[in-house]
Amino acid sequence: MILSKRKTVIFGLDSAPPELVFYKWLDYLPNIKHLVSNGIFGKLESTIPAITCPAWASMVTSTNPGKLGMYGFRNRNHYNYEGLSFVDSNTINVETIWDILSKQGKKTIIIGVPPTYPPKPICNGYMVSCFLTPDKNCQYTYPDKLKYEVEKVSDGYILDVSNFRNEAKEHILNTTYEMTRKRFKLARHFIQNEDWDFLMMVEMGTDRIQHAFWGFFDNRHPRYLQGNKYENVIFDYYKYIDDEIGNTLPLLDENTLILLVSDHGAKMMEGGICINEWLINNGYLKLVHYPDEVTQISKQLIDWNKTMVWGEGGYYGRLFFNVKDREPSGIIPKQNYEYLRNELIAALEDLRDEKGQKINTKVFKPEEIYTECRNIPPDLIVYYGDLSWRSIGSVGHNTIWADENDTGYDDANHAQYGIFVMYGDNGYHSERRDDLRIMDVTPTVLDRMGIDIPWYMEGSVIK
Ligand SMILES: [Zn+2]
Repeated sequence: MILSKRKTVIFGLDSAPPELVFYKWLDYLPNIKHLVSNGIFGKLESTIPAITCPAWASMVTSTNPGKLGMYGFRNRNHYNYEGLSFVDSNTINVETIWDILSKQGKKTIIIGVPPTYPPKPICNGYMVSCFLTPDKNCQYTYPDKLKYEVEKVSDGYILDVSNFRNEAKEHILNTTYEMTRKRFKLARHFIQNEDWDFLMMVEMGTDRIQHAFWGFFDNRHPRYLQGNKYENVIFDYYKYIDDEIGNTLPLLDENTLILLVSDHGAKMMEGGICINEWLINNGYLKLVHYPDEVTQISKQLIDWNKTMVWGEGGYYGRLFFNVKDREPSGIIPKQNYEYLRNELIAALEDLRDEKGQKINTKVFKPEEIYTECRNIPPDLIVYYGDLSWRSIGSVGHNTIWADENDTGYDDANHAQYGIFVMYGDNGYHSERRDDLRIMDVTPTVLDRMGIDIPWYMEGSVIK
């Protein structure tokens, strides 16, 4: 029997993978285990790309990234060579779950959900914006004066771990714990002191700690050393997260639906594909001069009159085509565009590692995976080695394979499946599901709270 719930709490753990939370460590996470053992759970299929901003945005709007016009952490703004710019809350052009609920008179409290910077007004509720906030001198709460309460309760709120890709491991570790402790404390403060209906918080620490420490715990990682001092860092942090959840659950009444979700998963990074090196080798890209040292690709470095395709770095790859009458110095005639895309797809799907083994690269045409492509989509979206390899944008490597990320230390890449747990409405038994998608979250919560689901939402209600 499905019981209608009056209130909902969503705990978001950025990048939490089902392999660790459900299968490897569940027995050591008693509070999460309690939710899993008495609720609906399963891996949650993320968006393509499986990247924080489009994934959370897609979750809270039940709209695909193409329709949102959000193709990653950064987007192309014009058909020129000026590079990409960061997305923010203004990129979202449809109502979020909290917009819908607060218009229905439900009081909503939003903490750290990407992308909510700059914070937008909520007609009935509060917001603390996300990791995109440049610093606390910017307005990071709605209403602005809420920051005094946030700062007082948390004793110095932390938006994100700065420099989580640098080598100062102790700093990363200490700041992550401090940030998480403050965020859960703030959430509990609101839970206890406000008359709320919907509260959603996203903890970034899980993502930061995985990127910084994955190679210390995963014995398949080339950098792994048995018995190293950081071997249990990720495990210990998940136990700590479980404690924080355990400290919060007793504050929630019987009438509260509880969700634990992540935006995507994580996996070991096998290496990087220097995509612009590959494009040079295969005659698609021409540089003005080949650099003597590793150099970020730039407008000045590319010979645009002889370049057909260039690529961007990141957890996944994006290829941009230099199309005649579209880009300023475009050379690909429009009638050859599709042929060239198919040629590249075939070649990239055949990408090999240094040993000559195929790495299972997946390539997507945006218009085939999205119902609509707002703003400027990449011409091709690429999962090198199905996300086991990241995209390296820089040149000067003299090889197409890289062991390390070129923009800072990183052991982990994103993975396509995150986690989903929903507790409190299925008569307290465990049900594992294999058909859950990130866009199902919002319609499901609206359904359980007795709110009509807008027609344009793409997800299904999880029954
Ligand atoms: Zn994320």
